[in-house]
Amino acid sequence: MVYKLSKNNLNTKYVFVALCFVFLPVALLVSCLGISRKPEVVYKYDEYLKTTPEIRVLLLEGVSKAEIAISQSYSITNSDRTVDLAQGMDLPGSTIRLESGKFLIEPITSPGTLKIGNAVIETDGEIRIIPQRDGGFITLNKSKYLGNLLFIPGSNGCFTVLEEIGIEEYLPGVVGSEVPERWQDDAIFAQVVAARSYIVYQKKINGNSRFDIGKLGLAYNGSFTNQLKINEIVAKTRGVVMVYDWGILPGYFHSTCGGHTEDINLVFGLKSIPPLSGVICGYCGKSKYYRWAKGIKKSEIERKLQNYQFDIKHIYDIVAEKKGVGGHSSAVTVKHSCGSNSFDANSFRLMVGPNVLLSTAFTMREDGDSFVFDGKGWGHGVGLCQYGMEEMARSGVQWFDILKHYYPGINLMKIY
Ligand SMILES: [Zn+2]
Repeated sequence: MVYKLSKNNLNTKYVFVALCFVFLPVALLVSCLGISRKPEVVYKYDEYLKTTPEIRVLLLEGVSKAEIAISQSYSITNSDRTVDLAQGMDLPGSTIRLESGKFLIEPITSPGTLKIGNAVIETDGEIRIIPQRDGGFITLNKSKYLGNLLFIPGSNGCFTVLEEIGIEEYLPGVVGSEVPERWQDDAIFAQVVAARSYIVYQKKINGNSRFDIGKLGLAYNGSFTNQLKINEIVAKTRGVVMVYDWGILPGYFHSTCGGHTEDINLVFGLKSIPPLSGVICGYCGKSKYYRWAKGIKKSEIERKLQNYQFDIKHIYDIVAEKKGVGGHSSAVTVKHSCGSNSFDANSFRLMVGPNVLLSTAFTMREDGDSFVFDGKGWGHGVGLCQYGMEEMARSGVQWFDILKHYYPGINLMKIY
C-alpha cells in the first residue's frame, strides 16, 4: 500500500489515508484469528485515535536551582496537599495560585522540599505548574514552554524538571530547533513527519517511564510562537506518521550522513529493518559537515572520559572499528598507558561531546599534544539526512518521496 500525500490537497488525500482504518479492524480481526503470520507486529493504533498523545520531556536533571517567569496566572498543584503559604499566596485545597512574575526555584534543607519564590512546598512527589488559560507560557531559564511543568525534588538537594505537553504542541519547538525555517517547504514537511514518527514511537516503547524524550533525544529549546511556516506544516500533517509492516516507524534523523546512511543495528544495536538499514544519500555533499578534520587535545579527551569514571591516562591511540555500510563505526578502542578500553562508538562520541566529535565515521592521526580526527557527516547517521533532505527538496522532490528515499518500504498513515 502506498499512501501519497500532497501538501496541496492534503485534505482529500487524508480522506484516502483515513480509509485504511476501514481495513485496519479487518486486519486486526484476521490477525486475532491467527490467519496473519505476524500478529505480534500489529500495533493498536486505536490507542492514539481519540486524543492527541501527551508526552513527558526531560528539561533539567539534577539541578540545584532554576528561574521561572510566569506570564499569566498559573496554579501549582502539590500531590500530597502539604503546602506552606507565604505572603501573596492563597491555598484552595492543594492548589496555590501564583501571580505573574519572576521566581527562583531552589530546594531547601529537608529532602523533598522546594522553594518557589517565597512559598515553601513540601512533597514526596511531583509539583505541577499548570497554565490557567490558552496562550500562556512559562519561561524556564530563558526558554518558553507551553506545557505543564513538573518539578520533582530529589533526595540530594537537587531536582528534575519535566514538561508535560501534547505531541502537536511539542513538534514546532523540536522542528524549529532542528532545522532553519527558511528551508524548503518539502524539507520541513519531511522533517515534521519524521520527528512525529520518532516521538510517537518513543511514547509507545517508554510506556510508564518517568519521561518519553530525554535530553539527547531531540533538539528542543522550548516552544516558539513566531514560526508561522513550521506551525502551519505541523497542522497540515496533524497525526501523520510513517509505518512499516504495520508498526510505527521510529523516524531517526541526523544532520549529515556523509554519503550513505547507516544501519540502525550497527549504531543502536536495534533490529535491522529495511527502512533503517542504510541507503545511498547522494545529496548532502554541500553540507559543511560532509567531510571535516578536527583537532582535539589529548588531555581534553582524557578528562572527559575520566568524568565518566574511566581510569584513562596518556592516550596514545584511538581506533574506530567495525564500520558499517555508511562508514560509521560501532566500537572505538582507546589505548592508553594502563591498557585499553573498548567503547560503544556512539557512547564514546557522546562522552567526548556530540558537537566536538561530529560522527563515528572517522580515522585518527596524532599531531603533537592533539589527536586530529578526519571524519564525515554529523550525527549518528541513521534514517533521514537533514542536509540531504533539503537538497532533495531544492531539486524538486516532494516530501513523501524524500521520506521514501531515506526510509525505503514505509507507508504514511494518519493515526489521529
Ligand atoms: Zn546525506
